[in-house]
Amino acid sequence: MFELEGLTKRFGGLTAVDDLSFTVDRGEIVGLIGPNGSGKSTVFNCTMGRYSVTDGSIYFDGEEITDDDTHEVVERGLSRVSQESNPIDAMTVAANIKLFTLPNSVRTMRGGGDEETIFEYAARVDIEDKLHEEPGSLPHADVRRLEIAKALATEPEMLLLDEPFAGMNQQEIDELVTKFETFRDEGMTMIVVDHNMGGLMRLVDRVVVIHNGVKIAEGDPDEIAENETVRNAYLGSS
Ligand code: ATP
Ligand code: MG
Repeated sequence: MFELEGLTKRFGGLTAVDDLSFTVDRGEIVGLIGPNGSGKSTVFNCTMGRYSVTDGSIYFDGEEITDDDTHEVVERGLSRVSQESNPIDAMTVAANIKLFTLPNSVRTMRGGGDEETIFEYAARVDIEDKLHEEPGSLPHADVRRLEIAKALATEPEMLLLDEPFAGMNQQEIDELVTKFETFRDEGMTMIVVDHNMGGLMRLVDRVVVIHNGVKIAEGDPDEIAENETVRNAYLGSS
């Protein structure tokens, strides 16, 4: 479904992602974890066509997408929730979601911009009663939910979630984990980035750990929780 093959991204003398390879099968949820600055968001930025790739290849659905621009990647069925929320505060929640629909999508053949579909996207993350509010008036967790609704509005087959639990309290995290489980049951493939195992532990099928851009471990959550190399990487970075 999704594959990174030797992905490398350099910024001048800094190697942010270093010869990284892993695959994600259809319907799988993979956790991508690592300390601050280990290259997690850079992997997403390269995948989404935000950053050009220095070396290596990215495949989605059997096709190479390494040099695709963001629009092409989204049209293929990949969508990302960024680490930072960036709603337009002068527009309602509904209008923010509508901006991300692909009314002329070749892939989905769906006119996603109508009121009913916008309501559906919002309802999938429980913000359907906030559609007429402005994002600036919403609590943090609802703004993050809006970011997820925006990502869903492109009708993706695979979601890249960059720190979706950040700044949420335990109840909000639990609710979001349940949502992601529902998405999975409906066939969504996901990569979830976090600093640590936290909310990820229960959710993911497999974990990839990176440190300084290099993959240092991969395995099921229980194995990773016990892994000495992983523990040392976190100790060394804090
Ligand atoms: P965090 O957990 O803090 O979000 P991260 O694992 O997402 O960290 P990245 O944001 O991918 O880490 O950054 C990896 C490295 O690449 C860092 O050293 C960062 O400063 C650098 N970097 C990322 N984007 C750029 C950029 N546009 N220009 C220069 N350096 C960058
Ligand atoms: Mg990041």
